[in-house]
Amino acid sequence: MKKLIFATGNENKVKEIQEILKDINIEVLSKKEIGFEDLEVVEDGDTLFENSKKKALALANKIDYAIIADDSGLFVDALNDKPGVHSSRYAGEEGNDDRNNEKLLKDLEEIKEEDRTARFKAVITLITEDKEIYEIEGICEGHIDFQLKGSNGFGYDPLFIPEGYSKSFGELSDEIKNKISHRYKALLELKEKLEELIRS
Ligand code: IMP
Repeated sequence: MKKLIFATGNENKVKEIQEILKDINIEVLSKKEIGFEDLEVVEDGDTLFENSKKKALALANKIDYAIIADDSGLFVDALNDKPGVHSSRYAGEEGNDDRNNEKLLKDLEEIKEEDRTARFKAVITLITEDKEIYEIEGICEGHIDFQLKGSNGFGYDPLFIPEGYSKSFGELSDEIKNKISHRYKALLELKEKLEELIRS
């Protein structure tokens, strides 16, 4: 395996994984870099894995390089795991973080602190050159605060207090978030899987 194509339009995600994989002999390229930036997939799956698999398969059907795709979301216990796979459009409109956070606070209005447990999950689908499919997951446990705090990051970061901390992801530095996040944990798992595949 020499090249790994990341089926994402988000260049920051590509940079993050390039950094993590820099000491193994794999070149990570974005779909744009191989001329497939227009390949869009409707994320209508019921799970993070379904969505990430759909995105990875769309590219795997066209090229024979190894491919990864990801999906992530916030799962709140008191809301039976909502917003979950619908995290980016919880308030109805794709990618409106302010309205999503407002809705989350309202939905949890009656819920006391000890019952506001939640977790971010990141799932990565890896499809190898031989079209074998692997599912990789990273989880970051925490709870949802009663008010927005901080302006770092994106999405639900101002409401999410990771386990072991008293500040939200919106207040914590990128450096700290990137060492404990669901995405980072999934990427470390991916690295292990790739090393195992290279060895075998
Ligand atoms: P995506 O998988 O990067 O498209 O993320 C889907 C949605 O999940 C985002 O739009 C956010 O609402 C939420 N989300 C995923 N990861 C994070 C995170 O690290 N911080 C805050 N929100 C996140």
